[in-house]
Amino acid sequence: MIKNLINGKWVESKEVFETVNPATGEVLAEVAHASPQQVAEAVQAAKDAFPAWANMPVAKRSKIIEKLGDLIADNVEELSEMETKDTGLPLYQTRNALIPRASSNFYFFAEKAKQMNGHTYPMDDQMLNYTLYQPTGVCALISPWNVPFMTGTWKTAPCLALGNTAVMKQSELSPLTTDFLGRLAMEAGIPAGVFNVVHGFGSTTGNALIMNKDVNAISFTGGTATGKHIIASAGLKKFSMELGGKSPVMIFDDCDYERALDAALFGIFSINGERCTAGSRIFVQETIYDKFATEFAERANRIQVGDPMDMNTKVGSLISQQHWDKVTGYIRVGIEEGAKLIAGGPEKPVHELPAHLKNGHFVRPTVFRDVTNNMRIAREEIFGPVAVLIPFKDEADVIRLANDNDYGLASYLWTQDVGKVHRIARAVEAGMLFVNSQNVRDLRTPFGGVKASGTGREGGDYSFEVFCEPKNVCISM
Ligand code: NAD
Repeated sequence: MIKNLINGKWVESKEVFETVNPATGEVLAEVAHASPQQVAEAVQAAKDAFPAWANMPVAKRSKIIEKLGDLIADNVEELSEMETKDTGLPLYQTRNALIPRASSNFYFFAEKAKQMNGHTYPMDDQMLNYTLYQPTGVCALISPWNVPFMTGTWKTAPCLALGNTAVMKQSELSPLTTDFLGRLAMEAGIPAGVFNVVHGFGSTTGNALIMNKDVNAISFTGGTATGKHIIASAGLKKFSMELGGKSPVMIFDDCDYERALDAALFGIFSINGERCTAGSRIFVQETIYDKFATEFAERANRIQVGDPMDMNTKVGSLISQQHWDKVTGYIRVGIEEGAKLIAGGPEKPVHELPAHLKNGHFVRPTVFRDVTNNMRIAREEIFGPVAVLIPFKDEADVIRLANDNDYGLASYLWTQDVGKVHRIARAVEAGMLFVNSQNVRDLRTPFGGVKASGTGREGGDYSFEVFCEPKNVCISM
């Protein structure tokens, strides 16, 4: 039984739900479904624990946070297998990248917390202003199922290191590694009440958490519709909203072609395509469009789909039947809209799967060409292994097409022309641009999006926006 962690104690609930391995259908665990009353208790515990934690000498607090990073590093094997079973993500990614990166989050913010320096603003010789960065208080940390441990720790590390206390709600579809995080947090010496975990659904547990008046900030990662609901319902709080995406990849004919092809494949098919920053709209200059489309589809057909626990598998199982219906529904929409299907398709690759995976939610890497920007498959977030290839004429054309979308999270550019790089960097409506590069994270940089992709940034000093309050002190000299 997976229990809630409230005030340092493991607490059962009257109701339970199951978490299931999406690749096999096996029930992995029963999970306590936190009631609104239990959510209130968790928030109260976080509120009570706040003053002592916030006032703990930063070096001491950072040591505990570092220790949590060490414990994650010591448990990469177990955590990655658990994450893969709970989500269907390929083990090659959880083990090699997603789980190890989580420990870096703790090391990084343990250091960052020691540098919480303010600014000074002298007013001639009359007055001196200085700023204090103080922790925000009780923070609700809400995560989605697509890379749960990574996303959860990306919030937990700055939140706790900067002196806040937390109530975390992980997605009901992927609670296991967050439960493990709670256990490691206790082992690291995080005091009771500083880090609480409540499990449950958005409409019940989640709603009780966001509405609680003692929650000072909400760091939310998830869908745009949920983000809008939270902002509209939660009242006056600080928000960081990391929402959906439909990120453009702009590939010019002067690019390093092989690298661009490789990166574009990885950008849409890694993490099962269930990735907020997926390069899901691939714009290719018309001079190389046919060659690119043919080779992209050939390569997509060769990607191994199947058992997420097999280290050779590149695309595992989608998270749920409901999500499989959504993704394959979009593939059908694409066909109806008149786009040309050149790899994959909506059928489950049943004949390629061993018996124990027959009920898994598998989708073959799917590629559409001859897509136009007004088609739903080009406009809406599919959140699965479905690539759309759209031709463009020139720089002005691709900027117009890339920006003609509700979302604005990541963007990717492939060209050798440095002038073009600078012009597009200014013009593209996105929170991030990766030039001749994969989506490589440097923890110091701002992560987040514009338009329907959210508000606020997390990472480095930018995490101060939600997890700290700057206070100005003005002194007469
Ligand atoms: P979701 O919005 O359905 O759920 C996200 C989390 O919010 C879950 O824990 C859920 O239980 C909770 N929730 C739902 N309703 C709630 C409510 N009323 N009050 C409080 N909590 C509530 O999203 P999802 O389907 O789990 O995740 C997929 C989405 O997440 C995609 O749109 C994806 O792009 C986005 N995402 C964004 C980023 C980013 O950094 N921008 C990263 C990963 C995923």
